[in-house]
Amino acid sequence: MSETASHQGGCHCGKVRYEVKTDLGKIMACNCSICAKQGLWLTFVPAGKFKLISGEDALRDYQFAKRKVHHLFCNACGVESFGRGAKPDGTEMIAINVRCLDGVDLDGLNVVTFDGASL
Ligand SMILES: [Zn+2]
Repeated sequence: MSETASHQGGCHCGKVRYEVKTDLGKIMACNCSICAKQGLWLTFVPAGKFKLISGEDALRDYQFAKRKVHHLFCNACGVESFGRGAKPDGTEMIAINVRCLDGVDLDGLNVVTFDGASL
């Protein structure tokens, strides 16, 4: 599963829906304090490859530590289906919670562990 394709995803209740273009070639399982608790499997895309279809007004923002990443969760169901951040050079990036994409075979993904806890 390494071809770039459009995927749709969103939160549990359906208020937050988005479309993203990504190849799902490399998925990151991070062990930082929030990823560990949420079991997040992430892939990162430039903001231009992400389109929020609905739910901007349902998003609640959670930030911690260096407050660089906006962890956005749905105000109804609580699921963080994506987050917003930026690279050190300022490029806007979107972190996609791969578990929230429709119809993705999680067992078939190439998951790489990332030691975010040590950053
Ligand atoms: Zn929801």
